[in-house]
Amino acid sequence: KRLVLIGPPGCGKGTQSPVIKDEYCLCHLATGDMLRASVAAKTPLGVKAKEAMDKGELVSDEIVVGIIDEALKKPSCQKGFILDGFPRTVAQAQKLDEMLETRGVKVDKVLNFAINDSILEERITGRWIHPASGRTYHTKYAPPKVPGIDDVTGEPLIQRKDDTPSVLKSRLEAFHRQTEPVIDYYSKKSIVANLPAEKRPEEVTKEVKKVLS
Ligand code: ADP
Ligand code: ADP
Ligand code: ADP
Repeated sequence: KRLVLIGPPGCGKGTQSPVIKDEYCLCHLATGDMLRASVAAKTPLGVKAKEAMDKGELVSDEIVVGIIDEALKKPSCQKGFILDGFPRTVAQAQKLDEMLETRGVKVDKVLNFAINDSILEERITGRWIHPASGRTYHTKYAPPKVPGIDDVTGEPLIQRKDDTPSVLKSRLEAFHRQTEPVIDYYSKKSIVANLPAEKRPEEVTKEVKKVLS
């Protein structure tokens, strides 16, 4: 399957992605994770992206389209993929359609994580991440066995620098202004499925499986 996940920061995209990936053997491409890796490695691309990311603004379409174009060439992505956090603008969605057209394929389904803004601050400020694997925890909703430590590797967890209430505000503004139109773009193609992202993670997973079955 070729899937796109859309939703505001903290809606649960990263939490549901591994489930979808394991169930359907897809490759998982998260532009946020890829950009953070570039920032941490201080690559030229990372240096360019950092300023926008720190402010909670979107990185330029050219940068993220380039990253995705490159990633879609991986052998593991030929049978299907999950795009997590891309496309985030209508221009990115159009570019994606063009990229897929040259490969003779298209997006099968768009999962729209529907959730009220008021819930997201608690989700974001309680989020802890294992950077190397992308595993995500939450102090209240998905606590690690030992606070601040990854269950699997025993390595330390981090909090994202942009997971603060004030940067969240900018990220939500960007979502409503630039990313919500992407949902309309895909609605016209009748491939959008709405998920009740406010429910417990297991409930959301059930809905995801229903939609994809
Ligand atoms: P979240 O998990 O909160 O949805 P991400 O990890 O997906 O956030 O993205 C973090 C930041 O990376 C965004 O605020 C933005 O600056 C940048 N970014 C990620 N994906 C894109 C994209 N498709 N287009 C532009 N910027 C992006
Ligand atoms: P996104 O990738 O969309 O930004 P995440 O999957 O990282 O969102 O989830 C944000 C935070 O909320 C994480 O700390 C995660 O553990 C937690 N979380 C995810 N889904 C749920 C849920 N359905 N109910 C409660 N907390 C959740
Ligand atoms: P600084 O701004 O101090 O130079 P870095 O460039 O090392 O910090 O990283 C910026 C922020 O991005 C860090 O504070 C960290 O929270 C986050 N980060 C770095 N790498 C990852 C990753 N692979 N996954 C998630 N978050 C990351």
